[in-house]
Amino acid sequence: MAAHKPHKKIFTVGWLYPDLMNIYGDRGNILTLLKRAEWRGYEARMLELGRGTTIGMDEVDVFFFGGGQDREQALVYEDLLEHKQQPLESAVNRGSVVLAVCGGYQLLGHYYRTAEGERFPGIGLIDVRTEAGKKRFIGDVVVDTDISGLTPNTLVGFENHSGRTFLGPRALPIGKVRLGFGNNGSDRTEGCVQGGVIGTYLHGSLLPKNPHLADHLIKLALSRRGVVELSPLDDSVELSAHERILARAQRRPPVRAQEEHPRRSSANAAAEQKGPS
Ligand code: GLN
Repeated sequence: MAAHKPHKKIFTVGWLYPDLMNIYGDRGNILTLLKRAEWRGYEARMLELGRGTTIGMDEVDVFFFGGGQDREQALVYEDLLEHKQQPLESAVNRGSVVLAVCGGYQLLGHYYRTAEGERFPGIGLIDVRTEAGKKRFIGDVVVDTDISGLTPNTLVGFENHSGRTFLGPRALPIGKVRLGFGNNGSDRTEGCVQGGVIGTYLHGSLLPKNPHLADHLIKLALSRRGVVELSPLDDSVELSAHERILARAQRRPPVRAQEEHPRRSSANAAAEQKGPS
């Protein structure tokens, strides 16, 4: 049977496990994608893809996979392997795009091992692996991104995870953290880009404060329908929220000092400010 060809002006967002993988405002990403497609004249639809169902996955333009605590990840990883892996792979091969945040990002990789040593196999859609540590990485994040065509070339958000994610050779980072821990608190990378799949630790929610990334995802998904440009929108409110986090980040000591010895770093920062005695 010939693959379904989506109707020209319908834009479909597929939300993986909305009942279980949806924390720290992740729902805002769905609303942002739908609204920004609607403001460009598309009939925007949202498809809930809970456990067991795969109906309509071949019509999805952008899949969203939110975050979740270890308990929720334990409830979805088998369904992901059994029911979603194959249709997701073929959808991505046909040009669908995936945005995955934190717990969702981890399960698209090879595996996620909890701090207690439990191992949840992932679907290997992206070349990353995650090992949880004892200390949770929590706080604001600012990323200098390498994703081409993104203006501003910064992304802002909030992280809260125990997982340390390491990228394999087939995955590229979204960028480098200017503030925050990012993938693993040591190599200063954040997230991953592999083909049409983007993984990140940025909650918040991410897309309302980063409208340029939302448009990047929409454009990427619609490029298979010959769309090369999206009509501009007035993003002044969104970008002033973005700027506010950037400004707040300026007032913070650099990321590395914070990571290694929080108490020593603030003493250093104070000493640096006071200058040589
Ligand atoms: N449970 C995972 C971790 O702790 C993901 C957490 C999340 O999605 N915020 O790293």
